[in-house]
Amino acid sequence: MTSGEAEARANSGGRADDPAGWPGTDRVAVVLPLPLSGPYDYRMPEAVALQPGDFVQVPLGRRELPGLVWGAASGEVDEAKLRRVIRRFDMPPLPADGLRFLAWVARYVMAPLGAVAKMAMSVPEALAPPEAPRGYRLAPAHAGERDYGLAPHRATPARRRVLALLAEGPARLPAELAREAGCSPAVVKGLAELGLVESVPLGHGAAFRPPDPGHAPVTLNADQAAAAEALAGAVRQGGYGATLLDGVTGSGKTEVYFEAIAAALQAGRQVLVLVPEIALSAQWLERFAARFGVPPAEWHSDLSAARRRETWRAVAFGKARVVVGARSALFLPFAALGLIIVDEEHETAFKQEDGVLYNARDMAVVRAHLGNFPIVLVSATPSLETMVNVETGRYGRVQLPSRHGGARLPELAAVDMRAEPAPRGQFLSPVLARALAETLAAGEQSLLFLNRRGYAPLTLCRACGLRVECGDCSAWLVEHRLIGRLKCHHCGFSRPTPQRCPHCRAADSFVACGPGVERIAEEVQASLPQARLALMTSDSFHGPAEAQALVQQITQGAVDVIIGTQLVAKGHHFPQLTLVGVVDADLGLAGGDLRAGERTFQLLHQVAGRAGRAERPGRVLLQTYQPEHPVLAALVAGDRDTFLAEEAAARETRGWPPFGRLAGIIVSGRDRPAVEQVAQELGRAAPRGEGIEVLGPAEAPLALLRGRHRRRLLVKAAKGAPLQGILADWLMRVPVPNAVRVTVDIDPYSFL
Ligand code: ADP
Ligand code: ZN
Repeated sequence: MTSGEAEARANSGGRADDPAGWPGTDRVAVVLPLPLSGPYDYRMPEAVALQPGDFVQVPLGRRELPGLVWGAASGEVDEAKLRRVIRRFDMPPLPADGLRFLAWVARYVMAPLGAVAKMAMSVPEALAPPEAPRGYRLAPAHAGERDYGLAPHRATPARRRVLALLAEGPARLPAELAREAGCSPAVVKGLAELGLVESVPLGHGAAFRPPDPGHAPVTLNADQAAAAEALAGAVRQGGYGATLLDGVTGSGKTEVYFEAIAAALQAGRQVLVLVPEIALSAQWLERFAARFGVPPAEWHSDLSAARRRETWRAVAFGKARVVVGARSALFLPFAALGLIIVDEEHETAFKQEDGVLYNARDMAVVRAHLGNFPIVLVSATPSLETMVNVETGRYGRVQLPSRHGGARLPELAAVDMRAEPAPRGQFLSPVLARALAETLAAGEQSLLFLNRRGYAPLTLCRACGLRVECGDCSAWLVEHRLIGRLKCHHCGFSRPTPQRCPHCRAADSFVACGPGVERIAEEVQASLPQARLALMTSDSFHGPAEAQALVQQITQGAVDVIIGTQLVAKGHHFPQLTLVGVVDADLGLAGGDLRAGERTFQLLHQVAGRAGRAERPGRVLLQTYQPEHPVLAALVAGDRDTFLAEEAAARETRGWPPFGRLAGIIVSGRDRPAVEQVAQELGRAAPRGEGIEVLGPAEAPLALLRGRHRRRLLVKAAKGAPLQGILADWLMRVPVPNAVRVTVDIDPYSFL
């Protein structure tokens, strides 16, 4: 996806933003949050004029649903069948660019408009103002009296305490008052019955105080100041423009884009910061609060229901000025969005892999284009897509070539495991083991990176050779020794690790094959018993609070060796960390997905960037069996741009993205023959010519997932081909029974 396409498509627009003669009748079209391809007609409510973007309540069958006023009615519905909008919610309407964005995304990813609109109505309970919680305050009539009106014969110590609390503090929830006064809620109730306290609505939770652009600006170095000025200037000038903020790890990219945020705040606009992994952004939140005086609004799946509702409304009313969030934050009802930042833009976590399959980075560019405001893509290892857009001049670029404060980039070296193998049954080469011991002795921190959760990727019965499989997925179960369970990493199924082989009944016959992070931890603990270890994977904590606590421990130096998966690669700044050991640098190169090389480069570069971020220099050891591989050679040489150029040339010759387009077609269902049949028919009816090539059908690498059989086809198209139109035509020609699902994945990132 390119902004050129964004332009072409944006101009074809939705009809919602055509105000001419609006609406001309007493009917409107309303999009419902259901997988329907278009809006439904309704009659306007009495005495309320609706406009496009209004959130309304409508009847459908026996249900009442929220909906979004889309535009003028189709007029195709019988007068007799036409039902009336029940009410308009007292909310600002979604602005026209927001509506056009929904239409654009639906068309591009080939999802029903209603399914996309559902993401913009993700918190239906937020449409009505929340009922204010009620608390107690002193009754004004008695507040000035002696003992606040409490007659001596009724005065108990508990009653006195409650009244004294209220005399000094604000109104409070009854439960809160009782807790603070150390009495039962009945005491509070009794005072209410005596008329000495009265119930009043309390204000709502956090107030979303506006961040102050002038709160505590950082003194930028010369490179940073130039970059910040370029970005802030674009914000002040307004208008669409995409810019890559390309800076080495530790160069201060965050400080720089904070200045763009400050400029947007000064211009009275809202800002969205998209991050790949919000659960781990505690450090980022602290830095934001230090710079702007208050924390930003957060948007992610771990918010409480009340917080979610409050935040959604605050965004719609323009009170939440800066929102930091995961993918779905892109669909919040911003009242006046004026800048988007996509941090770590190369991360594949921006691709949503279920429901509506969209890439939040690409759609963010479209959002900025439709809203006519700037967007900044931030990375030390930009995606090939973005680099090509920079080279063709579609995106601008500002660069930060060196680390802030004179910190040097770490030195990378490959450890050739053929020449320096790990001792039998172990996984760390003597070189890395020695480096760990030295780092520990120097009182510095180390990070061992292995992108494999659990103890071992494969568990095998020594007696009969059985590998324990997930019943619902074509995948082996992974042993998690710390919790004594075998887990499926695809569907989440888990079972206790059996004592006996379920097949041959041999006792204690399971052997672990290969390493996971838990096994590496065991090896390190055995060789460095005094070292304090911490595992950092998605298994090691539940929710952002626990993650934050662990990050804090590490920052405070309570940990000597961190052993982690890709979670540790992202954005952390641990000043005492000086050694990074990559246990298996070859891991991501197998598998042969078209981005395997690019992703491995990005991930390992990012991990390496955790080392030596402060005064003490860092070093990075990459354990590999193929040090001559171009990815490893480029990492060691520190030559990102040559690597990217070669990668781009290779993709261009083969017509792979971003030089050609791809779409994945996944056929799935519980009934294997039915799935097979649909896949075969799709193959037979596949479009030919027109710069289009269809590969497959073939069994998906994950041939069984959550109990569903899967077949894949891959559509390869020339860059200019009208991919969506061709796909729509094709899919319409093949009947699909209800039990089979055909999913279209435009610009796929996963080929499993
Ligand atoms: P990046 O995102 O490019 O890896 P960061 O923005 O995280 O880099 O900056 C790295 C570290 O350097 C952070 O701790 C940051 O606070 C600090 N830093 C960067 N620029 C400055 C500056 N101009 N003044 C003070 N500290 C800075
Ligand atoms: Zn499974």
